[in-house]
Amino acid sequence: MDLFEYQAKELFADHGVPTTPGRVTDTAEGAKAIAEEIGKPVMIKAQVKVGGRGKAGGVKYSEDAAAAEANAEAILGLDIKGHVVKNLLVAEAADIAEEYYISFLLDRTNRTYLAMCSVEGGVEIEVTAEENPDALARIPVDAVTGVDLAFARTIAEAGKLPAEVLDAAANTIQKLWEVFVKEDALLVEVNPLVRTPDDQILALDGKVTLDANADFRHPNHSAFEDRDATDPLELKAKENDLNYVKLDGEVGIIGNGAGLVMSTLDVVAYAGEDHGGVKPANFLDIGGGASAEVMAAGLDVILGDDQVKSVFVNVFGGITACDAVANGIVGALDKLGADANKPLVVRLDGNKVEEGRQILADADHPLVTLADTMDSGADKAAELASK
Ligand code: GDP
Ligand code: MN
Repeated sequence: MDLFEYQAKELFADHGVPTTPGRVTDTAEGAKAIAEEIGKPVMIKAQVKVGGRGKAGGVKYSEDAAAAEANAEAILGLDIKGHVVKNLLVAEAADIAEEYYISFLLDRTNRTYLAMCSVEGGVEIEVTAEENPDALARIPVDAVTGVDLAFARTIAEAGKLPAEVLDAAANTIQKLWEVFVKEDALLVEVNPLVRTPDDQILALDGKVTLDANADFRHPNHSAFEDRDATDPLELKAKENDLNYVKLDGEVGIIGNGAGLVMSTLDVVAYAGEDHGGVKPANFLDIGGGASAEVMAAGLDVILGDDQVKSVFVNVFGGITACDAVANGIVGALDKLGADANKPLVVRLDGNKVEEGRQILADADHPLVTLADTMDSGADKAAELASK
């Protein structure tokens, strides 16, 4: 998950990375009020998840509260590379003597972490990397030893930061490494990291990407989710710990195991060609435990998609055997009651398949059709969706 600048700076503050004080708002009046509170010149900064905001007119210096209000008015609603500005960060304006660049990231190719540092910051770093590669130091970071103060200083030196600020820069760089590790980030980037006229070092911008695989360790990170930008069904699925991706078709898909679900999508798309071109409506992997609760949660999400006309449940019984899955389906339909209103094609195979089929046959639910094979199930589901 990519964070907004103001969210990145919240994490910076938690770890003692020096930056300018500020707050976020979604109105021009709000910007004026924050500027009055700060009582000094402020920067009005568009909060969009895209670089180059400054160039696009999304970052403006404001001498006083009135200017802050006027600039906020101008920036709100601005379209920056397809991102419409809804929120602004109002932050005390710093005096800048020099602009540097620092980042920590995962270097997949070399299977290590990487620090990148340059005395030539502020500008787009891709341009520096292209036109003047020597100006951008790349220093591998050992995952075990990490970055202590001495190594942070080595990074700053490699980036050719001036001697006068090496101590302050090392201190900030070490804290940025703490952010990277403790918050389970894949990227922590500060551009510009600035030197003030009195040789302080401040992080004036912040770009952080968090590793969603580590979300379980960080209950506070869920607050960073951009709920406006996330599909409501995907949000609901996430709340139920389901692996769900909304697609643009008519046949809802439930399966266990990512590989099986992927091939189910293919088979349904193929079968759909014979039925007016219907397509899979989603990816949903219910994983190992296909209990009634998980099945009900999954069905609930899929049936909440108005585009869905039929559902194909394709399960291969392993550790969770087919009888448990069948009971899960029956239980889920009970639970959902009248909310279950679209035909379901169920294909079971694997461990305890006979028992599972028997359970569904006995339940004899009017919405459920049993399929013997994956192909025939996909065909039936596509046919039902095309009606
Ligand atoms: P970006 O263009 O999206 O990377 O947004 P930044 O936050 O990096 O801001 C762009 C530029 O605005 C920076 O490179 C600075 O030159 C300038 N800027 C940002 N914050 C301040 C500040 O507090 N004071 C001053 N004087 N300039 C700033
Ligand atoms: Mn920047």
